Amino acid sequence: MAVMSFSIPRNIYYGEGALEKLSELKGKKAVLVTGGSSMKKFGFLDMAQDLLKKADIESIIIDGVEPNPSVKTVMEGAAAMQDFNPDWIVAIGGGSAIDAAKVMWCFYEHPKLTFDEIIEPGSMPALRNKAKFIAIPSTSGTASEITAFSVITDTENHIKYPIVAADMVPDIAILDPVIPARMPAHITANTGMDVMAHALEAVASTAATSFTDPYALEAIRLVFENLEIAYKEPDNMKARENMHNASALAGMAFTNASLGLVHSLAHKIGGEFGVTHGLANAILLPYIIEFNKQFSDKYAMVEKALEIDNLADKIRALNSTLKIPATFQECTEVDFNQAKYNEVIDRMSLNALNDPCTLTNPGSPKVEDIKKIYNAAYYGAAVLTS
Ligand code: NDP
Ligand code: MN
Repeated sequence: MAVMSFSIPRNIYYGEGALEKLSELKGKKAVLVTGGSSMKKFGFLDMAQDLLKKADIESIIIDGVEPNPSVKTVMEGAAAMQDFNPDWIVAIGGGSAIDAAKVMWCFYEHPKLTFDEIIEPGSMPALRNKAKFIAIPSTSGTASEITAFSVITDTENHIKYPIVAADMVPDIAILDPVIPARMPAHITANTGMDVMAHALEAVASTAATSFTDPYALEAIRLVFENLEIAYKEPDNMKARENMHNASALAGMAFTNASLGLVHSLAHKIGGEFGVTHGLANAILLPYIIEFNKQFSDKYAMVEKALEIDNLADKIRALNSTLKIPATFQECTEVDFNQAKYNEVIDRMSLNALNDPCTLTNPGSPKVEDIKKIYNAAYYGAAVLTS
């Protein structure tokens, strides 16, 4: 085996009340980065500022980070950081707010750098000359609080760029389940199935190792045992806490083992139709498990470890409980009309083949395989394995 590495945040604080850890921080100035309005509305932004004040840290807020954050938002945030000169960056919100804050951090540290210069994986210069980074996730899904990734959109050219840099792994992650407990049911379901997709893809990945499998397996177990409860009983704090931890555990696996076809196909169908990321993953998962089974014994390993008869069927049953449709054709979140589907299927399949996540899927799939999987997930047919 080649030399590998395993990177995660230095400190992870978890459990109800973990937010209080902000009051123990050492420093002078912090910038809080957040999304639209949810963190303000539920009082978490004020709580965070009060806790920083207790630590004698002066803070300002950069808010308004939009879902699928843009290069423009990132550059404006970096400029505000240069004016204020913080020694801590505290991102509090969903994956979008945390992703945007990570790249703002990079341009705060390196004001002369351009966005084009950080697109190539591994091209980002060293961070932490000016500030360190804390991530406080408000959704239990993307695991941006753990990962070396950030997804930034070039809105002029309609391109989503996955930025990859080991230095963007946060210094501290704070997992307080009180925050995601405010998510509405459909966001709980979609982000929760994103966690399942992260964990299952990290297990099946050709880059999976003994360092990543234990985290992924535990995340799968926690999602099977807690997602339905978190969805049906929004105030069940034990289920919320288990889902929040599962998200981070899956993140520890996939930031080091990468992902696979579920994400490749979800990225491209999301680009064409605008369907929510976690929802697309949830629909695709059972079909891709059935396709990948011919190339990987890792699904059998999961079935054995968790005492499951048929993993794909168990995912189908969970989707149905969460009111997630079995096919794209039946999905009403966006308009999946057949004429448009027929028009884009070839382009979408080729783009999915070239997605970086395809590189670590077992069995080197071909473009025809990807088209077959899309068709199966659109019409609800069985996936024909070669
Ligand atoms: P977003 O951060 O985009 O937030 C989605 C919506 O949920 C927003 O309207 C937000 O409102 C709301 N919201 C967030 N938290 C709460 C809460 N606790 N209560 C009520 N509403 C809430 O969602 P995700 O976390 O799913 O992040 C998606 C982004 O992450 C995408 O850009 C995706 O590409 C990226 N991503 C990043 C990865 C990584 O490793 N870095 C991996 C996978 C995806 P408001 O704005 O008002 O707060
Ligand atoms: Mn995902």
